[in-house]
Amino acid sequence: MVGQREPNAQGAFRCLLCGARQGRFVLAAKGMDLEACGGCALVQRSPLPTVAEIEAMYAEDPHYGDELRRTEGAFLERERGVLERLAARGVGGPMLDVGAGAGYLLRAALERGWRAEGIELSRPNAERMTAELGVPVHTVDLAQAPLAPKSFGLVTFSHCLEHLSDPVGALARARELLTDDGRVHIAVPHWNAAKRRLVGGRIAWIYPHHLSYFTRSSLEEALRRAGLELEHADTRPMLGRDYPFLFAGLRRARLDGALAGFLGLGERPLESLLTDNLQLSVATWRLRATMALAHTLLALWPERALGRVGLGEELRATARRA
Ligand SMILES: [Zn+2]
Repeated sequence: MVGQREPNAQGAFRCLLCGARQGRFVLAAKGMDLEACGGCALVQRSPLPTVAEIEAMYAEDPHYGDELRRTEGAFLERERGVLERLAARGVGGPMLDVGAGAGYLLRAALERGWRAEGIELSRPNAERMTAELGVPVHTVDLAQAPLAPKSFGLVTFSHCLEHLSDPVGALARARELLTDDGRVHIAVPHWNAAKRRLVGGRIAWIYPHHLSYFTRSSLEEALRRAGLELEHADTRPMLGRDYPFLFAGLRRARLDGALAGFLGLGERPLESLLTDNLQLSVATWRLRATMALAHTLLALWPERALGRVGLGEELRATARRA
């Protein structure tokens, strides 16, 4: 899975974090190549999409963020927990949520009585949040957002940093916006997660919007370059039932063909049936039995234990001015 390769056709590898020009091929997944930086080991897409391509991925897509809204209760509960833990360490508002997504962190901050603002490049999502929550949500890059220095007790990047073409610049801007004892909170997919190591490129969170993939050390390096100091880091499970992980595991164990045969699926991939949008019209007893098996297998995966030993799928960090 890991190997050497020539620089890509454009010879254009340039690390988003440290600027190094030397990349090492790591894996090919879902039509993309990922390379690890020879300097700081950040893993990133290579070649990177152009600015125009990145903007097109977000701006007018009415479905961007739909998957977040499908599991509203769990996401809101998770973000409440994040703010509760931060508040217990003395962190308070006002809060700026960069990459506000579907607005769960904003809502959790408002529930605590904090003033809150968001930044979200998806215009439909930003408009929805402003209408529902009555808070300002800026649809411009963090660098251009009209925000006063030292005006936020907390700046959050919840599953945002990996979408940015200048993560260090964004963190440095966040630092300017922090009050003297303010904090930055970050959550990103964790490249060193046990699940990712097991199924490689089939992990659910490798997809085109994610330009980079962090480990604890590359995240710490990004913070350092932005003038921030890591205060706390841990890992934990992602939310939701992870069918892609299950099917990658079945494929690895060469059981997917047998199961597809049992279900009479022919050439149709197993994933086409067992998704969050399961069509009950095809729910034969065989499919129901397979779903029950799927849920049992997923429940056996030791998510929480792996999170506790630093191998969980989500990497979280809190930082302050260095
Ligand atoms: Zn680098």
